[in-house]
Amino acid sequence: MNEISNSLVAADVAHSMHPYTNMRAHEANGPMIITRGEGVHVYDDKGKEYIEGMAGLWSVAVGFSETRLKDAAMKQMEALPYYHTFAHKAHEPSIRLAEKLAEMTPEGLDRCFFTNSGSEANDTVIKMVWYMNNALGRPEKKKFIARNKAYHGITIASGSLTGLPGNHRDFDLPAIPVTHVTTPHYWRFAEEGESEADFCARLLKEIEDTILAEGPETVAAFIGEPVMGAGGVMVPPEGYWEGVAAICKKHDILLVADEVICGFGRCGATFACEKFGFTPDILVLSKQISSSYMPLAAIMVTDAVYDAIADNSAKIGTFGHGFTGSGHPVATAVGLENLKIIEEKGLVANAAALEEAFIGGLHAAFDDHPLVGEVRGTGLIAGIELVAAKTAASAFDPAAKVGAKCADFAAEEGLISRAVGDVMALCPPLIITEAQINQIIERMGRALDRTLDWAKAEGLV
Ligand code: PMP
Repeated sequence: MNEISNSLVAADVAHSMHPYTNMRAHEANGPMIITRGEGVHVYDDKGKEYIEGMAGLWSVAVGFSETRLKDAAMKQMEALPYYHTFAHKAHEPSIRLAEKLAEMTPEGLDRCFFTNSGSEANDTVIKMVWYMNNALGRPEKKKFIARNKAYHGITIASGSLTGLPGNHRDFDLPAIPVTHVTTPHYWRFAEEGESEADFCARLLKEIEDTILAEGPETVAAFIGEPVMGAGGVMVPPEGYWEGVAAICKKHDILLVADEVICGFGRCGATFACEKFGFTPDILVLSKQISSSYMPLAAIMVTDAVYDAIADNSAKIGTFGHGFTGSGHPVATAVGLENLKIIEEKGLVANAAALEEAFIGGLHAAFDDHPLVGEVRGTGLIAGIELVAAKTAASAFDPAAKVGAKCADFAAEEGLISRAVGDVMALCPPLIITEAQINQIIERMGRALDRTLDWAKAEGLV
């Protein structure tokens, strides 16, 4: 390591508090410093090249060196580096991006509100729904239904919707009225001998029973990621989303699709709700909206939601909500250009076309691997669940950190993946090629073999 790297490591350990990090382990081991990116690759401070198999945080659709996004940012910086959108103010990039999103998203979702992050977007959704139901004279209709293992963010309210123990424990969450129902993951949560169709029917019944037990007049919304991401990449059973949509409609409950990961082609369709056959009342977008070159998120709502909010804002004088960065001109200019690139390069079609090479390739390579319980995924998002003896019941003790070990081996092999517990997540940039997918599979294969050897030596298998 050179001198600059040494001083960066020392300064990082001395001053940075990293998100999602064991801080004491960080003090001992120091950071992994990434210095540059090119296409699907990133490079660390020692010059080592990695395939970024997670597209950063599920987000860099167009890869790490898209000069058009740099140029769009520069141009906007020169014209108008900042202005806000409060109190009737507007600027071209946020207007054009809202218009573009209305055009791209499913029919009926034509009104757009911008935030800086997915968490802020889901917080905003909660507040919009509450505001709307107060406006409609039904102040008791405030509860949310979410799922175990859901990820909707980390603010006090969005973190309450998240269904992961690590996001609640010692943070005193949940802090809003929310009930979490069963994760739609057949392999792990099916009962002995239960078919996938019966599993789906059981989960739908659980959702309706929960609504009835709470009282439909008190339940405002159901929120879910069409394909669950940060909880471990779970693709729902067939018919699940159609069923959820029907239940919501029956009980006058809003359906919120959190497509912060799924949106813009990740699942092989522009939006995953289209692939899974439902149209939400509220659609939450982020990450691939700007390839995360700039922080940006958007909430799309139907006219019914919009009109209730708009009427109330007229009645009480304002919609008293918004961020300094809502619709930030540089972020929205970058987002607009990013969506043009996704369209012009046919990246949604690329994700769909490569599904067989990616998901099929992972199945072919790892279904029989002794450490792998399940390979799952759709489009260009996948999870490989590691277990001791091929069954869902043979999960490792989380304290053994088998997934983390596998991620370390994968990084040594030149592949950045993400261990969600013992699920190895993969979610590469949408610009990836079939040859690069094959490299991901080869490198993950070597990491799995090394993890198996290590697990044997540790007596874990
Ligand atoms: N929703 C989903 C589905 C997510 O995956 C994430 C982030 N991984 C969020 C919301 C929160 O987004 P952010 O980290 O930008 O707050």
